[in-house]
Amino acid sequence: MNKNRGEEPDIGATRPDTRLVTGGRDPQSFHGFVNPPVVHASTVLYPTAEDFLAHRARYVYGRRGTPTSEAFEEALRAIEGKLCAGVALVPSGLAAVTVALLSTLNAGDHVLVTDSVYLPTRKFCDGVLPRFGISTTYYDPLVGGAVAGLMRPNTRAVFVESPGSLSFEIQDIPAISRAAHARDAVVIMDNTWATPLYFDALAKGVDLSIQAATKYIGGHSDLMLGTLSANSGVWPRVKETVGALGLCAGPDDLYLGLRGLRTMSVRLARHQESGLYIARWLAARAEVLHVMHPGLETHPGHELFRRDFTGASGLFSVVLRPVPVAAAHAFLNTLTLFGIGASWGGYESLAIPFDCGAFRTATRWAPGGPTIRIHVGLEDVADLIADLECGFAALAAVS
Ligand SMILES: *Cc1c(COP(=O)(O)O)cnc(C)c1O
Repeated sequence: MNKNRGEEPDIGATRPDTRLVTGGRDPQSFHGFVNPPVVHASTVLYPTAEDFLAHRARYVYGRRGTPTSEAFEEALRAIEGKLCAGVALVPSGLAAVTVALLSTLNAGDHVLVTDSVYLPTRKFCDGVLPRFGISTTYYDPLVGGAVAGLMRPNTRAVFVESPGSLSFEIQDIPAISRAAHARDAVVIMDNTWATPLYFDALAKGVDLSIQAATKYIGGHSDLMLGTLSANSGVWPRVKETVGALGLCAGPDDLYLGLRGLRTMSVRLARHQESGLYIARWLAARAEVLHVMHPGLETHPGHELFRRDFTGASGLFSVVLRPVPVAAAHAFLNTLTLFGIGASWGGYESLAIPFDCGAFRTATRWAPGGPTIRIHVGLEDVADLIADLECGFAALAAVS
């Protein structure tokens, strides 16, 4: 799409924050307007019957791409780095997960999936993949290169998610990738937590990196969108599979997602700063047993985190010292700035109770007390702390 950009600098030579702003932009194609239009489209008209039969057109059909979807694809590709051969956009993060698996697996194959995986991914592996003759084994997220010992002759993919979005284990992605590639398996990563800004997935050995753009890319809790970024080895199959399944994201969500992408770096920096501040504050509280935040020196995965990541987003978990369930709920119910709700990555703070013990199969979940996941939003951190203090007062009153 760089056709009209003769005078513009080569964005490949710039740094990620600049690429976030410049990637996929082509104002001269849109009368000089800074942003692409929201193209609502199905039919594309061709000048002649001959053009129609030869598919001779810049865009061929709404489902197959519009100026809005192309601008987003190019912008994301610009921050995924040189190894990214193509980006596909689908209607949700979960759709990105399922398309990634369907693109890389065939009937009779076996897939290794981290036990820390996002629960709906597990449901797809357990509920739908067996219908296609594909089996799943869950593995300890901390397995590292020893994943080689779990591989079977028919293992064709290893699915990683680092950190886990409830339990925050950091996986050794380069070691897992080396082991997988040695046996001809591909590595699929759910990179929603770090985004390509804080974890350079493709450069670390991942073949297919997906994100729920619903989260930090969107950033405003007002859209559903998934992305798949593929290296050249897997891109043809991803492209074919997305097209064959008939998936396309809606134009308004694409527009909002692209708009969010432009400011993601400044938002993430603030999520990181406030998140770390609150994580440290919580870790020092008497009511707290443990804080699961990879950016804390006390986190078991902190060394790997420092080696492989360039930043932390605003999502982490807290283990409370044992109290009755009613006390943990009183804490949550008292908070006013932290909403109780699924999803995260928006500008607002959230806090939810969770229990990984309800679904883990390869590892034992024994945190030692009630667990709460926190998303730190963009509010003033002093107000967030005051809110948490009210929560702890309510907890003390019940326990
Ligand atoms: C939310 C989420 C998804 C799914 O995204 P949706 O857009 O809600 O379908 C996938 N992976 C992770 C880690 C998530 O947090």
